[in-house]
Amino acid sequence: MEFLKANYHAHTWRCQHAYDTEREYIEAAISMGIEIFGFSDHVPCPYQDGYVSNIRMTMKQAPEYVETIRRLEAEYRDQIKIYVGFEAEYVPEFYEEQMRMFRNLGCDYMIMGQHFLGSEENGPYTGTETEDESRIRRYVDLVIEGMQTGSYAYLAHPDLMNYQGMDSVYDWEMTRLCKEMKELDIPLEINMLGMGEGARHYPAERFWKIAGEVGNKAILGLDAHCVRHIQDVDSYRKCMELAEKYNLNLINKLEL
Ligand SMILES: [Zn+2]
Ligand SMILES: [Zn+2]
Repeated sequence: MEFLKANYHAHTWRCQHAYDTEREYIEAAISMGIEIFGFSDHVPCPYQDGYVSNIRMTMKQAPEYVETIRRLEAEYRDQIKIYVGFEAEYVPEFYEEQMRMFRNLGCDYMIMGQHFLGSEENGPYTGTETEDESRIRRYVDLVIEGMQTGSYAYLAHPDLMNYQGMDSVYDWEMTRLCKEMKELDIPLEINMLGMGEGARHYPAERFWKIAGEVGNKAILGLDAHCVRHIQDVDSYRKCMELAEKYNLNLINKLEL
C-alpha cells in the first residue's frame, strides 16, 4: 500500500473539533507505515479582551499539550519519530507572544494555516466564498509577511482562500504568493483533508496549476482531526494524481 511516510499536520481534541486520542493517532500512523508524525494543533491566541475561542486550545492548555506529546514521543521512539508544534495563523498582534510560548515550550516547528485574515474574533474566515479582491490581496500580503519571519516550516492549504471573482485577479495574486514562497523556499501543502471531504473547495486545481508553473515545493499533509483521516488512502491517491497532473515538485519530509 502506498501512503505518505511523513506528516506534519495533525490536531488533537484540545481544539474542540478533533476526536480520538493522541495515542490512537500514533498507533494508526504506525500501522499505516508513517515514519514521521508531527502534531500541529491550532495555536492558542493571547486574546486581550476575554474572548474565548471554540476552535482552539487556550494559552493555559499549551504546556499540557506539549508534555503529553513529548511523553508519547519517548514511549514510541523505537517505532516512529514524533514532533510537536502548532498550526498558526500569522496575526501580527499575537505573533510575539506566540513565539515566546513556542520557545518556552521547546516546540519543534510551526506551520502556517491562515484560516482568518486577522484575529478570529473579527474574521473573515478565509474559506468563505468572496468576490472581494481586497480579501485575496490581504491574504497574500499576510502570508508573505508572516513567512518572511522564517518561523513557519510550510504553508498549509495555501488554496483555502476562496476568491470567486475574476480569474485574472486570482491568477495574479496566487502567482505573487507562489513566487514569493519559492523565493523563501517554503513548501506548499496539498491538503488531504480537503481532498477527502468532497464538499471542500481545496485542493483547488486552479491554484496547483500556478504552483506547478512557478515550480514550488509541495508536500502532502493529512490535517488529521481524527484517526480515520490518518487512514485515508483514497485521498492520498487523489493528491498524488493532482501532483502528477501539474508536475509538482513533491518533497517527502521537512528538515526541522
Ligand atoms: Zn481544525
Ligand atoms: Zn489543520
